[in-house]
Amino acid sequence: MSGKPMGTMAINASLPKKASVVIVGGGIQGLCCAFYLTTFGIKDILVLDAGYWQGGASGRNGTLIRPGFGGPEWTELFKLSCDEWSRLSRKLGENVMFTKRGYSMIAERAETAAMLERAADVHRDLGVHSYFVSREELPRHLPAINHRRVAATLHLPDGGVAPHHAAMKGLRAACERNGVQVFYRTAVTAFDRTGGRASAVYVGQYRIDAGTVVVAAGGQNLQLADLAGTKLDGYSMRIEAMALEPIRPLIKPALALIDSLAYFHQTSRGEIVGGTEVPERPRMSLATDLPVMAATAKVYLDMFPQLAEVRVLRHWAGMIHVSSDFGPLLGEHPDLKDLWFSAGWSYGFAGAPGAGLLLAKAIATGDIDSRMRPFAIDRFDRGKPVAEAGIVLAKN
Ligand SMILES: Cc1cc2nc3c(=O)[nH]c(=O)nc-3n(C[C@H](O)[C@H](O)[C@H](O)COP(=O)(O)OP(=O)(O)OC[C@H]3O[C@@H](n4cnc5c(N)ncnc54)[C@H](O)[C@@H]3O)c2cc1C
Repeated sequence: MSGKPMGTMAINASLPKKASVVIVGGGIQGLCCAFYLTTFGIKDILVLDAGYWQGGASGRNGTLIRPGFGGPEWTELFKLSCDEWSRLSRKLGENVMFTKRGYSMIAERAETAAMLERAADVHRDLGVHSYFVSREELPRHLPAINHRRVAATLHLPDGGVAPHHAAMKGLRAACERNGVQVFYRTAVTAFDRTGGRASAVYVGQYRIDAGTVVVAAGGQNLQLADLAGTKLDGYSMRIEAMALEPIRPLIKPALALIDSLAYFHQTSRGEIVGGTEVPERPRMSLATDLPVMAATAKVYLDMFPQLAEVRVLRHWAGMIHVSSDFGPLLGEHPDLKDLWFSAGWSYGFAGAPGAGLLLAKAIATGDIDSRMRPFAIDRFDRGKPVAEAGIVLAKN
């Protein structure tokens, strides 16, 4: 056994004694994996989550979704995921409220504009619809933006947003309808490694035999990897976001300001929701910080001066786990058979349906899709990190 079985935890009497697949983490990654596994005919799937419903990053994010990034690896994976987002309501039989309001990648510096030129070539080669918004068209595309700061705008009309409450509710309902058992407030505390494989998980003293274990524990992925006696690349980091009070429609597309490391959009209720990345001392805390709020407010005002009088409505933080190249860690762990990860997610809301589909296909059929292969867990040991310039994340 690896990890410490704990004796004091209250155990839900209806927990099963075995499952074909145990998924550790009931955020959007875990639920997507569970849902797509059911579409491959897998039965007896169990999702265990330590926290409360939507308590992880999947209930705390900006909800922005895009099909294209700077490089081919991210673009291929996220194009698949964005395509899945547009089919998800139909597949789940639940309305996830994905709206294609478009997504604009904005450069403020000449070097970043050049990166967007290369990104547009990647998009064209991979069948992602994107186009540059000219200086003349910009006032119509983003009337309120401070045009003087914008060096280039690459627009992806198929991107958009989906409120996390709708997506999570839809996924959970479809999972449960397809027979998946989902338990919150149920932490996995240890793994059994008998026979060189992940053969069981423990919830306190309670043992659950598993055919396959998938870890999708967000900001806690590294702790789970430790409990399983394995190692995972990367570190946990906090991200903060902020909502401004509702105002008349001002910004239609979702936005990534690549140089300001910021992302935001205006919700259908009129709130401006987003955040910016401020490098800080790593810590596992969901407390919000005034400096981050001030930095976000500065980006809002630099780009949209009309927001000067608008009040802050809410401000919150979430934990994510990021890998050294910021790309996801997807697949079976090279050191322990039957232990899979969907980890390292910085854009894990946008990427969830695509990752869930590919992971489920790999577990159910053994076929590792070419869109998943670059994000293999051992890529750093092989000297094959995935370079990506089209993200808005600061290295700690
Ligand atoms: C402020 C903010 C803004 C963001 N904006 C965006 C965005 O606009 N677009 C985008 O694509 N992404 C965004 N992200 C990132 C995105 O939210 C995450 O990448 C994504 O939610 C990760 O999903 P997950 O299911 O892996 O993790 P989570 O949703 O965090 O779920 C992990 C779950 O694992 C559970 N868990 C932990 N330990 C255990 C254990 N021992 N046993 C059982 N369960 C356990 C936790 O309780 C948790 O519910 C943002 C994140 C934040 C915080």
